[in-house]
Amino acid sequence: MDTKLRLRGRVQMIWVDDALLLSLGATRVRVAPFTDKELAELHELRSGFTADQVAGVPWMSRLYGAGFLEECASASSDPDLARFDRLLHFLSEMELSGESRFTLLRRLHDAHCVIVGLGGLASWVVYNLLCCGVGRFTVIDGDVVEMSNLNRSILFSEADVGRPKVTVAAEAMRRFYPSIEVTTRQLTVTCQEELLPEFDGADLVLSLADQPPWVIKEWITAAAQRTKTPALLANGSRVGPFRREESDACAMCDWSHQMERQPLYGDLLRRQIRLPRGSSGALSPYGSMTGGFVAMEAVRHLLGLEPATLNRVWRLASDFTAGFDPCAKNPRCGVCGTAGEQALPLPSRSLEGL
Ligand SMILES: [Zn+2]
Repeated sequence: MDTKLRLRGRVQMIWVDDALLLSLGATRVRVAPFTDKELAELHELRSGFTADQVAGVPWMSRLYGAGFLEECASASSDPDLARFDRLLHFLSEMELSGESRFTLLRRLHDAHCVIVGLGGLASWVVYNLLCCGVGRFTVIDGDVVEMSNLNRSILFSEADVGRPKVTVAAEAMRRFYPSIEVTTRQLTVTCQEELLPEFDGADLVLSLADQPPWVIKEWITAAAQRTKTPALLANGSRVGPFRREESDACAMCDWSHQMERQPLYGDLLRRQIRLPRGSSGALSPYGSMTGGFVAMEAVRHLLGLEPATLNRVWRLASDFTAGFDPCAKNPRCGVCGTAGEQALPLPSRSLEGL
């Protein structure tokens, strides 16, 4: 049986006078005249035409040549095809680069993300990734759910208070999207070595943990460097830089730039770590905005697109303005640099003697 073609779901249409204007991204096609005859053909095209039928209608041939048509999905009992129907329309636009939307969906489903830290930000990231069809996770956190988490985390409920966050998160994730794999590791990270077996072979590390400040970023960045795992680090208002490969800046390049600008930065961190841990304010909408951005970066990477935070940091200010700060790879970075003994001290130096 001939494969049928139909209009891609993301094609936009405007009827202007006697013409129909169709657009897909930056590509435009004008069909004129566009009468009731063409309108009827367009409705028929929604359910699929064979290649021969398309070839017999000049304006449809032009749409086909411009990449506006896609193959209809073959009959399948795969529930994911129904679940991700609207996502498939989105992925359909990427078929122009040569891969089918089903291959791209499969790539997301097979992708393995390691998530370190299950705070409020992580809860928004996790649900966004599940909505985008990401299918394999390792979640790492040493804490139990507290009542005070519930003003910003959508992974937990009051009934979960006192239970390990990783256990509760895995249950919530499986409930939302049953065909995923979730591995849990209840661990309060104390050094980079603990992370190596978890990072090894993963497609992406998302670090959403914040304690101890900066030091946890160092451990995660260093472990990801050793296992050659792409990594994105974020907190509620700061995301990046995204490190995919050796030539990209890492999160400790960001630290080293701060050290160059302010040589006492390390001493300030040491003092901060010695202070009792405070309870900073946390407002859920910030987490949801930043979490959406983090998840979008992750999905772009997993689909083979370039993340927006390569060699730069995205920040969200308290007045809701957002923007990017450049963050070049720093040769004096203690994790990815090449300066040897001239490298700037890393944040873990602040823990010595404590
Ligand atoms: Zn670096």
